[in-house]
Amino acid sequence: HSIRLLSTFRYEDMQITLTDKPARKPDNDKLKFGANISDHMLEIDWTEQHGWGCPQIKPVEPLRIHPAAKVLHYATELFEGMKAYRCVDNKIRLFRPMENLNRMATTAQRTALPEFDKIELLKCLKKLISIDQEWVPYSQRCSLYIRPTFIGTEPTLGVSYSNQAKLFVIIGPVGPYFPTGMKPVSLLADPAYVRAWPGGCGMFKMGSNYAPTIKIQEIAVKKYNCQQVLWLFGDDHQMTEVGTMNLFVYWINESGEKELITPPLDSGLILPGITRKSLLELSRQWNEFKVSEQVITMARFVKALNEGRVQEVFGAGTACIVCPVNRILYKGQELNIPASDDPSNLTQRFYKEVNDIHFYRKASSWMEAV
Ligand code: PMP
Repeated sequence: HSIRLLSTFRYEDMQITLTDKPARKPDNDKLKFGANISDHMLEIDWTEQHGWGCPQIKPVEPLRIHPAAKVLHYATELFEGMKAYRCVDNKIRLFRPMENLNRMATTAQRTALPEFDKIELLKCLKKLISIDQEWVPYSQRCSLYIRPTFIGTEPTLGVSYSNQAKLFVIIGPVGPYFPTGMKPVSLLADPAYVRAWPGGCGMFKMGSNYAPTIKIQEIAVKKYNCQQVLWLFGDDHQMTEVGTMNLFVYWINESGEKELITPPLDSGLILPGITRKSLLELSRQWNEFKVSEQVITMARFVKALNEGRVQEVFGAGTACIVCPVNRILYKGQELNIPASDDPSNLTQRFYKEVNDIHFYRKASSWMEAV
């Protein structure tokens, strides 16, 4: 498929159709995650025969895809989640966008969707944001969520790669994850449920990883009164991820050292989070405690907890930056984790640091102007 490697869409071919019915923008304090989509979308089609078409920005409208489209049967789909912020100088900036586009390209490969030029996509994406710039909240508590999506649209049944595809991006304002201050969450850790496995797709951001988690999330909430799922893997009950966040533990390790620890990426079980990467880079720069990417089994964790060595547990992801954990339900036992809201906590410190970067209170090369 040499044409797949050679062709990309180009920003300079973009066609723009503006809406004549702009929607009213929602109030910042009433934003429900994912419920508000801006006026315009980016859409780019690909066929094996003709390669990539022209990028189009147009009013948001329902997609027209054939009922036999591969995505509807075999979940040939991937997505990304990233954010733009209206910074203190009123400029709009993206947080490490190339990280998301690299992850998107990696996932596209595994999903057998065609290659594209990430720089061209970034240019198109910036154009979309600048057209809908009034949708970026005037608030340092809110942001613009960006959802690039890529689907296989070939209208034929049969489990095979899709010779037609559609890449689209929708955007919309989102409110603070913690509207009333950081609230610790409780987790259900039940080894009966597995999110990802070696040789599987846990490391990719494809829709098919998420649909099977929704029921388990519901069981955690309704049956066990836990807010999220702690995904375990293997006979030794390795802690892998928290809901749709990467897991971090801050503790005194077995050698008596202060250590920030998160599960390693090499097993392919873990989504390589941009927040995860950023927190690891920040804390390695600080150089105040040991920073490790290592397997954490439940036995190892429970032992540390019983010995009073666990200081903080938190999830990390684009939605919240960090989310403290104060309780884990494991084998019918409640494990209580210290989670004070002391600002000197590492969780709080990460939150403040990354938030300062997002809104450019602290200038950073991680932020990229639109
Ligand atoms: N793990 C999973 C399973 C996720 O869906 C996400 C959200 N993308 C993350 C971790 C966190 O990744 P990021 O920091 O890039 O948002």
